[in-house]
Amino acid sequence: MADARTLVTTHRATRAFEPTTVLRGTLDDAAELIARHSPVAVLTGAGISTDSGVPDYRGPGSQRATPMLYSEFVHDEDNRRRYWARSYEGWARMGHADPNVGHRVLARWEQHDAGPRLAGLVTQNVDGLHETAGSRRLVTLHGRIADVVCLDCGDVSPRAELQQRLARLNPGVRPRADAGHAELRPDGDAVVDAWAGFRVAGCRRCGGTLKPDVVYFGEPVPVERVRRAYEIVDAAGVLLVAGSSLTVMSGLRFARHAVRRGRPLIIVNHGATRADELAAVRLDLNTSVALKGLSERFGIA
Ligand SMILES: [Zn+2]
Repeated sequence: MADARTLVTTHRATRAFEPTTVLRGTLDDAAELIARHSPVAVLTGAGISTDSGVPDYRGPGSQRATPMLYSEFVHDEDNRRRYWARSYEGWARMGHADPNVGHRVLARWEQHDAGPRLAGLVTQNVDGLHETAGSRRLVTLHGRIADVVCLDCGDVSPRAELQQRLARLNPGVRPRADAGHAELRPDGDAVVDAWAGFRVAGCRRCGGTLKPDVVYFGEPVPVERVRRAYEIVDAAGVLLVAGSSLTVMSGLRFARHAVRRGRPLIIVNHGATRADELAAVRLDLNTSVALKGLSERFGIA
């Protein structure tokens, strides 16, 4: 567990970003680049999980949501209460998401029973679906919604365990497995109206303040994770970005870094990204379709 005080880089949304999509090349071109510059590093974002029912709140047609800022969570008890009330409801829905074709393809690439050689996977997603699909050479840049961290003693515990404690503290509140997609953000934070009376649980060890072990907007990404992500990108000859608009610098920097080092960049995403002009191949495709298509070009049915 990285110490929050050692963090230097920041995960930050960019304001007023209205880029134009620039498309370039085909899936065949992408496959050829991956074959020629193998191994490939893959950076995934929310777009890869939309086929699993986890909404992408940045994608085209999605509802715009304003995510809570780190400072709002840490410094305001009411905000934390509201967060945990929403999270309590959203958790049930989150737990029901299954990996899709895109996740499974990338897990197979890592096992390398077939397909391109994979240097590793860096994900901005906190949904745990890459792990469930079997990916192990993986950096979860923004943490995991499946974990909870204590801001006072650093204890990391399973979110599922906290769910049981929250249930005991709030017998009147029912988590909803049927929470509508529009009400659910990618971090599992659904919308609850009556949160004011919600009872929040403290750390199981010290009674301190709990926070989901995910990187908030305005919160630094732990240095150790960033280092491991660069290691993966540097170990590869080509970078494939799948399902990310690269809106936040925490992901964009890897695309820029790869290009600076002369590695071709492939981007598969619905809608514009901040690195479109840097990409050797830029496809506006569903990530499941694209990753399956790439696998097929490497001889996987
Ligand atoms: Zn604690």
